[in-house]
Amino acid sequence: MVEEGTGVIGSNAGRSRSHNRRVVLDFVRAHEPAGRAEISRSCGLSIQAVSNIIDTLEGEGLLRTVGHRSGMRGKPALQYQFNPDGAFALGVEILPDAMVCALLNLSGKRIFSRRKKLPDASPEKAIPAVTKLIASAIEVSGRDRKNLLGTGIVMPGPFGKSGLSFSGAAVPGGWESIDIRQEFEKALNCPVIIENDATAAAVSERLAGAASELNNFCFIYFGTGLGLGVIAGGHSQRGALGNAGEIGHIITKANGLPCPCGNFGCLETYASRMGAFAFLEKAGGELPEGFTLASLLEAQNPAMLEWVEVAALHLSQAIGMVENLFDPETVILGGAIADVVIDALIAKLDLPTGSIANRPARIYPRVMRGSSGRLTAAIGGAAMIIHRTITPTVTVFH
Ligand SMILES: [Zn+2]
Repeated sequence: MVEEGTGVIGSNAGRSRSHNRRVVLDFVRAHEPAGRAEISRSCGLSIQAVSNIIDTLEGEGLLRTVGHRSGMRGKPALQYQFNPDGAFALGVEILPDAMVCALLNLSGKRIFSRRKKLPDASPEKAIPAVTKLIASAIEVSGRDRKNLLGTGIVMPGPFGKSGLSFSGAAVPGGWESIDIRQEFEKALNCPVIIENDATAAAVSERLAGAASELNNFCFIYFGTGLGLGVIAGGHSQRGALGNAGEIGHIITKANGLPCPCGNFGCLETYASRMGAFAFLEKAGGELPEGFTLASLLEAQNPAMLEWVEVAALHLSQAIGMVENLFDPETVILGGAIADVVIDALIAKLDLPTGSIANRPARIYPRVMRGSSGRLTAAIGGAAMIIHRTITPTVTVFH
């Protein structure tokens, strides 16, 4: 979790009402049950300010009273407790052929999740489909829509027009020229954050997954293509336009396979799910009906085993680059690909010895598998909304 008791104090000047609100909420969450005097003292806010904030938070259902503290002199003080079910957030990952939805309560507990096919991932079709999915998620989980804090929409980047805006299969088409956040806010009628899938996955992994203790790590995300999420000093690194981490298009083989981006030898053409399917097709062997990468691996399919070798070779080079660029405590692999496939890739890695990460005093292995599985990016989207609401620092969240 985000550091508790970070010593963040409020402002009595009334300059930032929402900041003070988050300071109080975060304090109670970390120190519950707590009384007004204690909150006032610890958060550096006047009793009056604390009382106003508490009244509002109680009215919104985010705090609740848990009676009086006993054994103290004088009038016993009313105690307050964080109410994790007072509100909820949604995260939706949009893939080129599917959408994944997760509903979290304020403690980050998953209340509901669903994966649904998305035959057409263009904005015209996907926005209404997401709207419908969200409505059914709220209904099935028995929540009141008025308690929805917002929705984190997670997609593969890059966002906006750039030299990487092309009709490659990893990126759903038609999104580069619209204001995605505005369109979703209009359709969903709630606050929306847009984040790239790899960054959301890294946030999710830090909140509840393999990286819960780590402030500096990288996450290589297997969507259809590949993305890189970077957490450095506890902050996600987004770049100027939210497009940092386009690792799929770094070149791991000079003059290698042509990539739809126009380059040759991009990592994504070798080591992504998309790359795997292209490899299997080229190998030409017969594939069983309804196969998955995991089922081929379990059946020891020769072409699949060969792909794992090739992909691991390219991933090893990319991981070496990431290590030397960011000095992470570990590099996590995860996302929309089965755990057994990731484990097979990790087992075949041949990491460069010439890396700053190749050092004797390591606490974590150089590479680990993520623990949040296929829901990781959707959970990350929802988690970003929750932490924007209750975390007063900008640690990790924006
Ligand atoms: Zn490329």
